[in-house]
Amino acid sequence: MFTDGDPRLGQLLDGIVRLAAGELDSRIEVSPARDELDAVIMGTNLLAEDLQIMYQELEQRVESRTRLLHEAHREMQKMALTDSLTGLANRSALVSAVNEALTETAAGGPPPALILLDLDAFKGVNDSLGHAVGDLVLNAVGNRIRSSVRDTDTVARLGGDEFAVLMPATTMARAATVGKRILASLDAPIELDHEAVRCGASVGLCVGDSGQSAEQLLMEADVAMYASKADGRNRLKMFEPTMLHARQLRSQLVDDLRAAISGSELVLHYQPVVELATGRVEGVEALLRWDHPVRGRVMPDEFIPVAEDAGLISELGGWVLRTAVGQLLQWRNAALVGDDFSMRINISPSDLQRLEFIEEVRDVLNGAGISPEMLVLELTEGAIVRGNELDRYSLNSLRKLGVGLEIDDFGTGYSSISYLRRLPVDKVKVDRSLLKDLGTDPAQPALIAAILQLIRACGLEAVWEGVETAEQAEHLRNIGCVSAQGYFFGRPSPAEELAGLLDRQRPAQEPG
Ligand code: C2E
Ligand code: CA
Ligand code: CA
Repeated sequence: MFTDGDPRLGQLLDGIVRLAAGELDSRIEVSPARDELDAVIMGTNLLAEDLQIMYQELEQRVESRTRLLHEAHREMQKMALTDSLTGLANRSALVSAVNEALTETAAGGPPPALILLDLDAFKGVNDSLGHAVGDLVLNAVGNRIRSSVRDTDTVARLGGDEFAVLMPATTMARAATVGKRILASLDAPIELDHEAVRCGASVGLCVGDSGQSAEQLLMEADVAMYASKADGRNRLKMFEPTMLHARQLRSQLVDDLRAAISGSELVLHYQPVVELATGRVEGVEALLRWDHPVRGRVMPDEFIPVAEDAGLISELGGWVLRTAVGQLLQWRNAALVGDDFSMRINISPSDLQRLEFIEEVRDVLNGAGISPEMLVLELTEGAIVRGNELDRYSLNSLRKLGVGLEIDDFGTGYSSISYLRRLPVDKVKVDRSLLKDLGTDPAQPALIAAILQLIRACGLEAVWEGVETAEQAEHLRNIGCVSAQGYFFGRPSPAEELAGLLDRQRPAQEPG
């Protein structure tokens, strides 16, 4: 075997140490002897060769993985800054663009302007035509805004149907021109596969100041947008400091309302629903009133939207449900009403989105020992036709519970015969606007008769709302409308007054 002191042994050991140290391109010299030791040296060289190839492959793999990682990182950064639906900038991209523009202004450059825009009719489109169509509309709107501004402007979608445009280094006049151009571009209907929709926008505008923060600029544009929405839709409003006052009032109203729900400032008034043929009060509609300690009586049209916005509607709705059912129980215990009487309450669209709501209705009815048929829930068309899974589930569950379901304000929204037939409702309350011109417009009687016929053909019952005169009541009775409601029969009034009315009709109801 190896003779002592063979120098190749030392070389072999050296070579192995170098390889182990990472010098993969070092090789050990093979001697002319070509003996067993040389065979081991050649084997070691082969191993080194293999190691080197493997190492190179590994390096290439690491390199390409690193490249992919970098690409993914860039993509993620882009995603973090873009709105995935429209490909426009998102809120955080907008905020950094605003910050950048404000920095330039602070350095003496011209001010930036910020436009905030909220679509007026988008909710209706989404509700009636579905989310896929809603997405198409948002994309179309994004494109129209994009083509109304310069490439250096940032167009962003801030979520939902809210968009923003930042114009760095501009003037008030140019910003206003661009704002109007955007409004005009949204005026033309958006053509979809089978229909065309038009959703105008409310636009708020403000021009930045050096020393202002991005948050302030966004807040001012938002305040201006709210003001333009409140002013009627499809408008452009420039921010004014006085607008902040209106906003303060609104947030004060939210605080007050929160206190009112837990306090005793809310009260329900009840308006009779009358059987036209006999004049009998067949039920009442509970309508909310708020006796504000300073502002006096506030009507629901003013505070319900505020409550909806502020997320207070479920608390409010719960209060209405408990109070109305409590009142019904009192009247029934006093034998003022029989089992054929109904208490109607108004339900908000957001109630259907809460599964607890169904439990609440069941618990309140069980607790009072009131049969579910005596409670009728009034839902507006908008709420009822939205048709998402949760709504459908809620409607069907309420239906199974046995409470009555009624479409409210019929004829103002997205009426369609197919949904009248499909929805699990049993009554339709026709909006008072459809009665307004009876007596002045010769075409009105025919329209009213047609609506009534349509409702009946769908197997539903009609309740006509807003009857103010004897003639209107007479007309409706003559064409076979069963029930009606309106100032002619009685205004919404406190429970005690209703009790008087119910008491007076008692002998007719229960002879003897
Ligand atoms: P609505 O459900 O359509 O209620 C009918 C409204 O028409 C009531 O206004 C009522 O006072 C009014 N009205 C009744 N008869 C006549 C009439 O002959 N002529 C005219 N011109 N008006 C009549 P109100 O009480 O101001 O309520 C406004 C709306 O506020 C209601 O419209 C309903 O959508 C909402 N609301 C009221 N109470 C509640 C509630 O407890 N919860 C919810 N979510 N909404 C409510
Ligand atoms: Ca109603
Ligand atoms: Ca109504």
